[in-house]
Amino acid sequence: MAISFFKQKIEDNQTGDRPIIDLREVNKYYRTAVGDYHALEGVDLQIKAGEFVSIIGKSGSGKTTLLNMITGIDRPTTGEVWVNGTAVHDLNENTMARWRGKSLGIVFQFFQLLPMISVIENIMLPMDFCRTYPIHERRDRAMELLELVELADHAYKLPTALSGGQQQRVAIARALANDPPVIIADEPTGNLDSKTAEAVFSLFNNLIAQGKTIIIVTHDSGLAKRTHRTALIADGEIVNEYVAKVMPSLTASQLLQATKTAKLQTYKAGTMILSEGTNADTFYIVSKGTVEVILPRKNQSDVIALQLGPGKCFGEMEFFHEKKHQASIRASEGGPVEVLAIGYGQLSELLGQSEVARETLHQLADKHEGENLSLRRAF
Ligand code: ADP
Ligand code: MG
Repeated sequence: MAISFFKQKIEDNQTGDRPIIDLREVNKYYRTAVGDYHALEGVDLQIKAGEFVSIIGKSGSGKTTLLNMITGIDRPTTGEVWVNGTAVHDLNENTMARWRGKSLGIVFQFFQLLPMISVIENIMLPMDFCRTYPIHERRDRAMELLELVELADHAYKLPTALSGGQQQRVAIARALANDPPVIIADEPTGNLDSKTAEAVFSLFNNLIAQGKTIIIVTHDSGLAKRTHRTALIADGEIVNEYVAKVMPSLTASQLLQATKTAKLQTYKAGTMILSEGTNADTFYIVSKGTVEVILPRKNQSDVIALQLGPGKCFGEMEFFHEKKHQASIRASEGGPVEVLAIGYGQLSELLGQSEVARETLHQLADKHEGENLSLRRAF
């Protein structure tokens, strides 16, 4: 009875909506000679099983610090870090290393293979350390992993006999040794030429196809765009991804300002968020759920003209063109809706910092206005 209950609990963790990685209000201070340095400020980050997430941000913004919280290489000063149901912030040093060895595959920018032992022994090491596979199976498994990264021919060479790209592929094979559900990689392509970087990236894509969860820190915005989701970090804080999506031409620190300015509002399913004909004073970005755009019709019932999901915005048309709302917006029946609300005064200030961002949003407003007109004609 007890055993089946435990099994059920594990399955809930893996299949439920619960994120495989969950950082809650994480703060990290470093002690320095000139006082405490606030490296992570109230970081909330949720990653679902099977997601491929990139973390980008300027040098010194806190990317490595963030990964170190997830791997338990370092601890948050305050806040919680959950990985696959384990409270990493609470693990003691003894259990931490074994837990990490079984639960995470870690890939570094400079590979960090042990130089005195062969490639295949480097891959067997995590299995030896965690005793995850019987001794007589470890070498075969290491060889299979080398085949996966197409380096079986190099198994008995020393790492230094391999090129940078090959060494990184060995490091990925080593990260997979204990078949961990999560791979964490800090600038894994940062030291590779673009062709080799591409080969490493496609290896990550294959792992995603097999159901792994991967987080990479990268400087390469082209690679970042090809992951499922990008988290931008600026001065130790995470920029809201939907704010970044709507105003992509703002700089990281302007986006952070926009994130801090935005007020999160929640509406129950079916509630009216704003009504046609009322004065407009706020710009909204949908961050969860969907809203319905309702067009009024003369002598007829209203019609739902559009549905807007996460990353879509409303209230921008009125900001540029009209003072009154041209349509009503309602939280759809499907579930609660979260929106980020930015007052027009604050929006003006933000767009004042970037002509391109202002122009982009203006064009979006024009496009929506055109769509609105044709919808009115259609209904
Ligand atoms: P990134 O990986 O984005 O380049 P880091 O997470 O390495 O940034 O560092 C974030 C900030 O914290 C930097 O200003 C860095 O100098 C500082 N920092 C990192 N590690 C330490 C440490 N051990 N002691 C003091 N300051 C640190
Ligand atoms: Mg770093």
